[in-house]
Amino acid sequence: MCVFCKIISGDIPAHKVYEDENFLAFLDIKPINPGHTLIIPKNHYANLSEIPENELSNMILIVKKVAVLLTKKLNFTDYTISENNGPLAGQSVAHFHFHIIPRFENDILTDWDHKERRVGEKEYKPGEAEEIIKKILA
Ligand SMILES: [Zn+2]
Repeated sequence: MCVFCKIISGDIPAHKVYEDENFLAFLDIKPINPGHTLIIPKNHYANLSEIPENELSNMILIVKKVAVLLTKKLNFTDYTISENNGPLAGQSVAHFHFHIIPRFENDILTDWDHKERRVGEKEYKPGEAEEIIKKILA
């Protein structure tokens, strides 16, 4: 059983923000910023590819509901919604989840996920973007 399934079953405690029949939201134990919240389906799916479309549709509405709740209750305006698939993308628990990350001036999110991205640092070589578009549209 994965760590998040153990949170759902109650074997591991969590600071719950929201819960209903199908979804659970709780505070990330290593928050990027205070109020950093994870939202998970109660059914175990490893990633975005695995979760059924109807469940994902319902889930994103819960993400919105929880995000709005957090902004009101924690008194912030800006936040990032994030969802990582696989360890190379920074997914540390293989149970599908969204992050809601409150954002503040000069916060540390750029240090997250091991990699910093600087605008203009990495650019496509001539023709490279067109090749990628061809593959996507083929
Ligand atoms: Zn799980």
